Amino acid sequence: MKTEDAEERKEKKKSEFSTDIKSLRFRLTAAFIAFAIVLMGVLWLMQVFSLKSYYQRAIESKTQSGITRLRTAYAASEELDADAFTDALMDIARDSDIYIYIESENGLSAISSTELMSGGRVINGIAFLLDQARQQLLASGGSETSFVQDFGETGKVIIRAAKLEGENREPVRLFIIAPLTPMDTTVSILTGLLFWVTIFSFILGALLAVVFSKSLAAPITDIKNKAKVLATGNYNVHFDDEHSYTEVRELARTLNETAYELERSTELQKDLVANVSHDLRTPLTMIKSYAEMIRDISGDNKEKRDQHLGVIIEETDRLSNLVGDILFISKIQSGTMEMKREPVDIQKAAESVLSVYKVLEDQDGFRFHFEPLAYETPIVTGDEARLQQVFSNLISNAVRYSADVKDITVRFSLDGGRLKCSVIDKGIGIAPEDLESIWNRYQRASKSATRSHASGTGLGLSIAKEILERHGADYGVESEVGKGSIFWFTIKAKFIVDSNIT
Ligand code: ADP
Repeated sequence: MKTEDAEERKEKKKSEFSTDIKSLRFRLTAAFIAFAIVLMGVLWLMQVFSLKSYYQRAIESKTQSGITRLRTAYAASEELDADAFTDALMDIARDSDIYIYIESENGLSAISSTELMSGGRVINGIAFLLDQARQQLLASGGSETSFVQDFGETGKVIIRAAKLEGENREPVRLFIIAPLTPMDTTVSILTGLLFWVTIFSFILGALLAVVFSKSLAAPITDIKNKAKVLATGNYNVHFDDEHSYTEVRELARTLNETAYELERSTELQKDLVANVSHDLRTPLTMIKSYAEMIRDISGDNKEKRDQHLGVIIEETDRLSNLVGDILFISKIQSGTMEMKREPVDIQKAAESVLSVYKVLEDQDGFRFHFEPLAYETPIVTGDEARLQQVFSNLISNAVRYSADVKDITVRFSLDGGRLKCSVIDKGIGIAPEDLESIWNRYQRASKSATRSHASGTGLGLSIAKEILERHGADYGVESEVGKGSIFWFTIKAKFIVDSNIT
């Protein structure tokens, strides 16, 4: 035993330290690291492959927007204010770090942004570039042209030329020259920086992964351990439902409810067994006692023997009814009982049950009243035999719990579009505190519900309730001690107007 324990502990320790690749902690850490790798990879790729072309595209778009702005300025103004135009030109040149040159078509007058930016580095051969651009513009015959001049070591230059036109003014030629700084130094600086960023993000990613996975896995592990305790049949566990993660909180709440339901159902089961065995024992004791009496006392006395045998037969019937009811209820509760879904003339079904009891009118002075709907025949969808069983249970209760006034009515009425069926007696009534528990003889109310009449199995209302619930019916009871009870249920029905109404 001891060695087994030690083995188990060893196993546990081993599993704590070995990596479970399916665990949340492992997966989360892996996901974080994978994310960092992908992110860094994308950054490296971007730097290696697209930084240079991105830079060139950005400068190109700068020159393009310079041209557009100046073209608009030249074309738009009513009176061309030369000073304002030059100021705008200078602003654009300074802001975008480009060189701008404008000349009249005859080449006689020109404006130039004097500085060539990019750290004051002057590009040699501006005149040469301008000349080349001028010729290209003239040759193309269009309004715009551009090209890139490569100066080798010193870098590249983007040249863009355009013809600007405006109403009532002479067309001019615009040249924009933008230097492309060589990117190699920049790339190598960035590479160094990116290396450290990569290292940093790996460490950060791993740290975050550990922190997150711990804070996520810890409550789940806690829940798992408690659920294990629950599985051993100890329902006294409480899952922490105050956690900050909504999902964990909801899981804990659901498990708390499960634990509560399990505890309740175990208790109900215990109650059920206790009640059933008690109820089985009573008739068995009677049968045994009367059988002994026949053996020892009344064996030769025919009259007494018959009387005693009568009790035995009665008790056997009760026993068999009880067993039948228990089987019925367990079947219906476990969902293994088939319920038909057919159209049922429920008034007719109830009337036929009531007719069985008519014999009691002469025998015991009962009065039975049947009050169907006045002008319609209600048709419900359901199982006729089961619905008859409901009426039978309610009517037999009304009979059994009647006292001096033996008046019983089965009434049908309309209740907000549904059909209401009531079984009304003027019998002993039910105490208010028992009104709810009587429907659950072998459940919650089993302790408080007292069997006031020996011939019942104590399951009649539980069975009626189960059948009614399976038919989607609402049910209830109104009662006053000493005055009588109304057991009712409402059910969905189709109403067929009776044809013999004139
Ligand atoms: P049983 O009648 O066999 O005890 P039921 O499930 O049919 O079992 O009824 C449960 C309890 O409800 C009864 O024991 C009785 O106390 C009470 N009860 C049922 N119907 C009536 C009624 N019509 N009048 C008074 N009490 C009733």
